[in-house]
Amino acid sequence: MGSYLDFYRRSIEAPEAFWAEQARLIDWERPFDAVLDASRPPFARWFVGGRTNLCHNAVDRHLATRADQPALVFESTETDQRRQYTYAQLHAEVNRTAAMLRSLGVKRGDRVIVYMPMVPEAVFVLLACARLGAIHSVVFGGFAAHSLAMRIDDAKPVLLVTADAGMRAGRVVPYKPLVDEALTLAKHPPARVLVLDRGLVPNSPVTPERDVDFATLGREHEGARVPVEWMESSEPSYILYTSGTTGKPKGVQRDTGGYAVALASSMRHIYTGQPGEVMFTASDIGWVVGHSYIVYGPLLNGMTTVLYEGLPIRPDAAVWWRLIEQYRVSVMFTSPTAIRILKKQDAAFLKRHDTSSLRYLFLAGEPLDAPTHAWISDALPSTQVLDNYWQTETGWPILGPVPGVEPRKRKLGSPGAAIYGYRVKLVDGLSGEEVTAANQKGVLVIQPPLPPGCLSTVWGDDARFVSTYFSSFDTPLYNTFDWATRDADGDYFILGRTDDVINVAGHRLGTREIEEAISGHPAIAEVAVVGVKDELKGQVVMAFAVPKDPARLQREEDRDALSREVMDTVGRTLGAVARPAAVYVVANLPKTRSGKLLRRSIQAVAEDREPGDLTTIEDPGALEGIQAALKARP
Ligand code: ATP
Ligand code: MG
Repeated sequence: MGSYLDFYRRSIEAPEAFWAEQARLIDWERPFDAVLDASRPPFARWFVGGRTNLCHNAVDRHLATRADQPALVFESTETDQRRQYTYAQLHAEVNRTAAMLRSLGVKRGDRVIVYMPMVPEAVFVLLACARLGAIHSVVFGGFAAHSLAMRIDDAKPVLLVTADAGMRAGRVVPYKPLVDEALTLAKHPPARVLVLDRGLVPNSPVTPERDVDFATLGREHEGARVPVEWMESSEPSYILYTSGTTGKPKGVQRDTGGYAVALASSMRHIYTGQPGEVMFTASDIGWVVGHSYIVYGPLLNGMTTVLYEGLPIRPDAAVWWRLIEQYRVSVMFTSPTAIRILKKQDAAFLKRHDTSSLRYLFLAGEPLDAPTHAWISDALPSTQVLDNYWQTETGWPILGPVPGVEPRKRKLGSPGAAIYGYRVKLVDGLSGEEVTAANQKGVLVIQPPLPPGCLSTVWGDDARFVSTYFSSFDTPLYNTFDWATRDADGDYFILGRTDDVINVAGHRLGTREIEEAISGHPAIAEVAVVGVKDELKGQVVMAFAVPKDPARLQREEDRDALSREVMDTVGRTLGAVARPAAVYVVANLPKTRSGKLLRRSIQAVAEDREPGDLTTIEDPGALEGIQAALKARP
């Protein structure tokens, strides 16, 4: 172990030597001719000429040393099922699934849409695609027919894999009728649909000729062996659409070799899971976190990965911690949103189980406010809680601690410094000039070339890749569309998305800084802050706060009292300009299915406009609650 600063500097000053070293963490069938080809900026190709395969590296490679070690542990609190696969068993299942896909016409370069619940077969399908050199595109199970059809038309798949249904909070959510509808809406429907019948829906609809039963086809290919297709490093491994929090989702295209190296490297240096240990990522395979840290990362690293179907609070708020105890999990990864949900429950649930095996809990996807960070750190005394900042586009963290190189003191409210490989800068939102002074606000950008693992382009649309991400400023810089400050130690604080900036009488405020101040109030569980049009001031700050104790929602006097306290808290911590014009105490906040606050929809409702595209919304009732609160007290 050296100092992180040296490690980081080497990655920036000698990137080719640095990444050539990291590339030894995976197997190459053919060595690469060059580490980096940046001859066509802002495009970057990593490990040019090298041939490798994600499935080989995630599965086959481990057979010699860990055939009998569990690779995948499945636990569903929805169907009350438990299954385990060793690396040898996973290898057999993936080969069989690859043979099934091949029999349905899937070849190298073909796209396969995966619209599946959190079941082992979904993991088999992803790895089988990788084995065949086919490009998977997982669409989060639960997206509406229209959203699915949009993604189908963009990816033009030869096959779609689905199930009769998913389960959520004890209720069956039928998938197949929705798939059927999406296929009638789509202009480029796949020829075949492979359907896993979980037995959740009696007489789930079947279209003969097109639909194929997963189990029946599986029996035909029992014991099959399918050779690995060796891919040139830059060939695409998958397409994943961004969450769509800010508009039309973009098809993020991932390469093969760069992604494998970036993930293997992140497992060693950032997540510090040892081969043989257990990692539990409580997310969904429909999101980037699921791709990188349920499926590929832990398996590339020879770990056991836990696949969990269910909620964090069912049957009760102890369920995750029971899994930690039962499987002796070393590394866990989830979202701050999930922790804020747990925060509304009795903290005693967390103390019921022995969580001493858990070294690290990583949180990413939304700002981790200091009070939530402190709360969960307190509840898990043997665990370090670390914030990670990244995007679907990058595939692995941009900002965060790197404990595998040098453990650093955590700073509540900050994910930390730039991760190795990333030249992160802050620039002025208008002039594009670099902001170098400490604690000044700026747009977070990355100087190209992007490191291995990041998107290589937008699927089928190189021009959109350049115009979306690299055209905000005079010089081509990758725009994260997030706003931040950096302190004298080089630690960043994310202030919010650039299109969420609130402009009160000429003062630019980040939604995040106000939300952070509000969540410091002991009675508040979570909060959303938006800027609302105002004739005098340009915009005013409005806050929607959810109390920890639902009893405080009942009476108007209680709500008003809490709302006044919240206003005072902001005034005290940030000053009068940031003081909200109104604070509404509500029961729920609208979020995307990936747990991101839909501030833009809240803002639209507050400005009396249409809320926009709500296909990714988790709970439409939450937005109605906000509308009602606004009406009751305009
Ligand atoms: P779309 O780009 O389609 O609008 P999205 O940006 O919500 O969707 P993701 O790629 O899943 O889709 O989310 C990345 C964004 O999440 C980041 O740009 C940032 O705004 C936010 N984010 C992620 N991690 C953190 C973190 N640790 N702290 C603060 N914000 C975070
Ligand atoms: Mg985004």
